Amino acid sequence: MGRGERDRVLNPSWEALDREHVWHPYAAVPPAVPVHPVSRADGVRLTLTDGRRLVDGMSSWWAAIHGYNHPRLNRALTDQLGDMAHVMFGGLTHEPAVRLARTLAEMTGLPRVFLADSGSVAVEVAIKMAFQFTGRSRLLTVRGGYHGDTFGAMAVCDPVNGMHHLFSGALPKHVFADRPPAAFDDDYLTHLDETVAAHADELAAIIVEPVVQGAGGMHFYHPAYLRRLRELADGYGLLLIADEIATGFGRTGELFGCDHAGIRPDIMCLGKALTGGYMSLAATLCTERVAEGIGTLMHGPTFMGNPLASAVAGASLDLLAERPWRREVALIEEGLTRGLAEAAKAPGVKDVRVLGAIGVVETHEPVDVGRVQDVVMEHGVWLRPFGRLIYTMPPYSIGDDLGLITTAMTAAAFSIDPRA
Ligand SMILES: *Cc1c(COP(=O)(O)O)cnc(C)c1O
Repeated sequence: MGRGERDRVLNPSWEALDREHVWHPYAAVPPAVPVHPVSRADGVRLTLTDGRRLVDGMSSWWAAIHGYNHPRLNRALTDQLGDMAHVMFGGLTHEPAVRLARTLAEMTGLPRVFLADSGSVAVEVAIKMAFQFTGRSRLLTVRGGYHGDTFGAMAVCDPVNGMHHLFSGALPKHVFADRPPAAFDDDYLTHLDETVAAHADELAAIIVEPVVQGAGGMHFYHPAYLRRLRELADGYGLLLIADEIATGFGRTGELFGCDHAGIRPDIMCLGKALTGGYMSLAATLCTERVAEGIGTLMHGPTFMGNPLASAVAGASLDLLAERPWRREVALIEEGLTRGLAEAAKAPGVKDVRVLGAIGVVETHEPVDVGRVQDVVMEHGVWLRPFGRLIYTMPPYSIGDDLGLITTAMTAAAFSIDPRA
């Protein structure tokens, strides 16, 4: 054994240790598709340990809307750190959490705010709110949804795409309407009417992702269906839960997905972009009527209302209010529409669709994730495709670098063997 090799064996690099010790999301150990070591992230770029720099088309799972290493967000965190990193929220309170709750209430029109530690937990809290408020424990949702990986949330994820088959014995059986179509269709409204009517007596709430179904398949649907769900909920005395964890904070071109339909839900879940991608934080908001009807809400995470997360979320929302996000998202929408038009002609591609700062290339067959990543990384871009989807949700600050992403996605689309 040479000296260099002995060093490597005795002192393995952290990159090598990853394979030995670490679980990655939705992965085996060691993972089947390689993971790429990152040393820094600045603006819209990730730097890998080998020095390569990649334009990030994922915003770290749709969260880093302002880009990385942002001086304002950094300062919010370091300023807060000097005062306190954390104190329990049971029996204590603090300014960053209260200010954040106030800002969220003003943005959404929903005055009661429960701060949770992740999106899935925010969904669990929303479901608890609905069950406690109504005294019932059945939900209605639509196929093609994604609401998180915890058990309550999993039970309303798409029953086929989701993880139901692995955990079916442990999941409550909720009511599923068909996946809402992209275009307006009167028959689908009738389907919603009938499905809700058939189960209204046992239902507590309707839960959906407004207008965009994210991790369940990146489908967009006509806002008329969301409006009808609001009417049905009102008509039958059910609650409407809007899971805005993916759609919130401007991603679809409106501040919230519900704004496309001009409706307000009874309960709303927020997460992902809430802290500008800095750390985990989520929120479940509700109307005063729901809050009063519930009384004591039985939930309380250890790190509830974490001051660091609340401070950076507050700063991220200030930044959002200041930045011309509507114009930025509209420009991204234009750039994606233009830049992905060619990809629609690739033989392996079934559909190309764009809404706001979301660009989707849907293929006929499931993609080889590692191969697609090789292609887009050769073009200097980071993406993480899944299933039959090569998609991007870039930071709002992407600017002209968007062209690199659409070029990479187009190259990936043409690299797919339609017979594979
Ligand atoms: C990501 C996501 C969740 C889950 O959020 P986590 O923070 O990953 O737990 C829930 N609902 C929607 C719509 C999401 O996109």
